[in-house]
Amino acid sequence: MSTVETTYAGSFIAGAQHRNAGDPLEVVNPADGRPFAEVATATEADVDAAVQAAHQAQHTWSELAVSKRGEILGRAAHHVEEHLDELIPLLTREQGKTLRDSRIEIAKAIDTLMHYVGLSKSLRGAHTPNLDPGVEGYVLRRPIGVVGAIVPWNFPTTLLCNKLAPALVAGNTVVAKPAATTPLTTLRFAELLAEGGLPEGVFNVVTGRGSVAGEALVTHPLVRKIAFTGSTPVGERIMAQCAHGVKRVTLELGGSDPMIICDDADLAAAASAASMGRFYNCGQACLAIKRVYVFESVADEVIQSIAAKASRLKVGRGDAGGTQMGPMHTNAQRSEVAGQVSQSVGAGGELLTGGTAPDDPELTDGFFYSPTVVVDPPHDSAMATEEVFGPALPIWRVADLDEAIARANASQFGLGSSVWTRDLARAREAARRIEAGYTWINSRTKVYDELPFGGWKSSGYGKEHGEEAFDFYTETKSVVLGAS
Ligand code: NAD
Repeated sequence: MSTVETTYAGSFIAGAQHRNAGDPLEVVNPADGRPFAEVATATEADVDAAVQAAHQAQHTWSELAVSKRGEILGRAAHHVEEHLDELIPLLTREQGKTLRDSRIEIAKAIDTLMHYVGLSKSLRGAHTPNLDPGVEGYVLRRPIGVVGAIVPWNFPTTLLCNKLAPALVAGNTVVAKPAATTPLTTLRFAELLAEGGLPEGVFNVVTGRGSVAGEALVTHPLVRKIAFTGSTPVGERIMAQCAHGVKRVTLELGGSDPMIICDDADLAAAASAASMGRFYNCGQACLAIKRVYVFESVADEVIQSIAAKASRLKVGRGDAGGTQMGPMHTNAQRSEVAGQVSQSVGAGGELLTGGTAPDDPELTDGFFYSPTVVVDPPHDSAMATEEVFGPALPIWRVADLDEAIARANASQFGLGSSVWTRDLARAREAARRIEAGYTWINSRTKVYDELPFGGWKSSGYGKEHGEEAFDFYTETKSVVLGAS
């Protein structure tokens, strides 16, 4: 007999809850380690039911005027917004983040939906009037079909909506699979979109394990595109599987974003951005600042300032007032980060603060880890070469911009990056030379719907956000109109 408070059917298919046939998985509150819900997992047959529903809905959906699709999505998004106060504690409970951060995340997810609703009114195409005398050409855009959207646990709703918004506006239908540990907010989100008028089958959710439900989605012949956010090894596997049938794929993968702080920077602002950029969401963000390179002459001041900020952060339950940093999402995630820190400190890095779980007895059952700062670990240590997906920041002293850029680029990853300097020539040089999909100059690392986002190197393939996202949810066709 299960002791959890709630059991969930597990999928949302064709506008209704659907009971999965697979075994149940517990959903655990990261703040106290206790399971509070159980969700039946999707089997291959459950995934097939979702894909069939999306396939059936796709023709009618794609035949609507693009502005009509936008209008329907906009109304549905408003309905979700009206239930923000219900979604926020649910997200905090299953993910661990603070209530404030849950509010920011879900509001941002709705903003992204509305951004593409806005674009649905202004999409235009290319036309060439005179290819040959009397012959003209234009480029037709068609939806790809059924899209499989696979999402991790760190930002379940924003990472979903980054895919859902351009996919639906472009006329595709979607089957999403949230992480096995964060299914609940996504299921309720889908239900609310349906209540708000999104037609049945246009957006479906299957829950469960990546190795079962995820793989079934990736390999389903009716799924014509996979939009994946997650780790690089799983992304590589999915890309190889998508080679079969030349399935379309976009990959938003791991990162190890460098931040360069030059000697002429606004040092106080840079230190704040480093602390915010590293410890936000308990360091579990693809775009977190994961490596800092600071010019030698100002290094002591910057290091002290970042370490002081880190040690002052109030760590606690996400649902407790005043908490600035919640628990890590799972115990396994915490062990991984603790291992990377101890390896890097053992190899010669200087531990300035953190490096353990907090000693507050109220927090012993949760997956907490103190904000951690390590100075000058070897450049071949785990904190330098691997993605650190938690609240631990390595900082290195560097001689100049050349060394900083060389170190920044000596990584398999190329997601985000930032540079702090008052010298415009230096800033522009860094923006040109750093190998990454985003460079923020004197700015905190915030993603804008207006600009395309996507990693270089092992950090991904394809773009989300911006009008560019439509390129990854449509097929184009060149049409030539002859003279007669
Ligand atoms: P993960 O790759 O283990 O899982 C991500 C999703 O993929 C989950 O839904 C999981 O169930 C599913 N999955 C796992 N194996 C699968 C398989 N074989 N086939 C299909 N689906 C499968 O990632 P994670 O550890 O949950 O998330 C953290 C990672 O995500 C980090 O590396 C982080 O940097 C990355 N991330 C990247 C971005 C970005 O935009 N670039 C954003 C957020 C997180």
